[in-house]
Amino acid sequence: MASPKYIKTCSIWRSLEIVGDKPSLLLLESYWLGTRRFSAFQKQTGLLKTVVSDRLGKLVAAGCFEKVLYSERPKRFEYRGTQKFYDLYPIALSMLHWEQKWGATDGKIQLSLVHKNCGQTTQPHAVCGDCKIEVDARDVSWSEGPGVGLMPAEYSRRRRKETPVNAKKTPLFDEIADLIGDRWSTLIMRSVFTNLNSYQDICEDTAMATNVLAERLTRLCATGFLQKKDATYRLTEKGRDIYPILLALMEWGDKWYADPEGPPLILTHKPCGNALKSAIICPQCGENVTKGDIRFEFTQQTETADL
Ligand SMILES: [Zn+2]
Ligand SMILES: [Zn+2]
Repeated sequence: MASPKYIKTCSIWRSLEIVGDKPSLLLLESYWLGTRRFSAFQKQTGLLKTVVSDRLGKLVAAGCFEKVLYSERPKRFEYRGTQKFYDLYPIALSMLHWEQKWGATDGKIQLSLVHKNCGQTTQPHAVCGDCKIEVDARDVSWSEGPGVGLMPAEYSRRRRKETPVNAKKTPLFDEIADLIGDRWSTLIMRSVFTNLNSYQDICEDTAMATNVLAERLTRLCATGFLQKKDATYRLTEKGRDIYPILLALMEWGDKWYADPEGPPLILTHKPCGNALKSAIICPQCGENVTKGDIRFEFTQQTETADL
């Protein structure tokens, strides 16, 4: 094997180390819907016991969950979200926003979101924290920050068989979890958002094995995130709409995996000229939405859950 390839340091990459995996996303989703115990995670996600055990262990090791003893005799544990977990909230809401706009509706659990503070049915989405304009990739320019550098793309150690995920529909994120839960696809999207459009440029930027890259590009075109035009890969509207999710992943990575020198990438919001820091708002009342402010109402069931 030749010397390791290097890719640009990126907080999105670091975040994907944790959430760029579909079983992990399903477990996080399940927690948001109220699941706390091992057997309940298994039941709700339909994942194999060994997969649930492995991914919960990884989420604990990553500091997103704590395993807490809740009964001495018999000894029983449950999982509790940490601050790091709750900081994933903007990612979850941005994924949900995308899913409600673009995800297939066939056979999916229908739900509406209610902003508890104003009492209205709402679709929270990401805006610039300063000027409150909805985040759009075309309004953002970027430059290298103090933490920019290179890191080895250690694909060979991480390469693993795709974990079979059962066909059960996930309650909230379905189609979007297929994308974000596959780190290769998300890294390709990151490249295209930085105006790298040719196969060669994307290949160099991601340092992916060519067979994996070719397969993912084909899949991203087939699922409508990209379209191929004159040997270049372009974002479709559906693909461009994942930008707030990438931004939320980047902000989470910047917060929890920052380089001591500072962030690798600095974003400027062109409409207001300020450094872009996103916020999630309720478009009905214009207020910021934070943890615990949203209630789900499942329209085909009577259940509700707080998110
Ligand atoms: Zn702005
Ligand atoms: Zn509201």
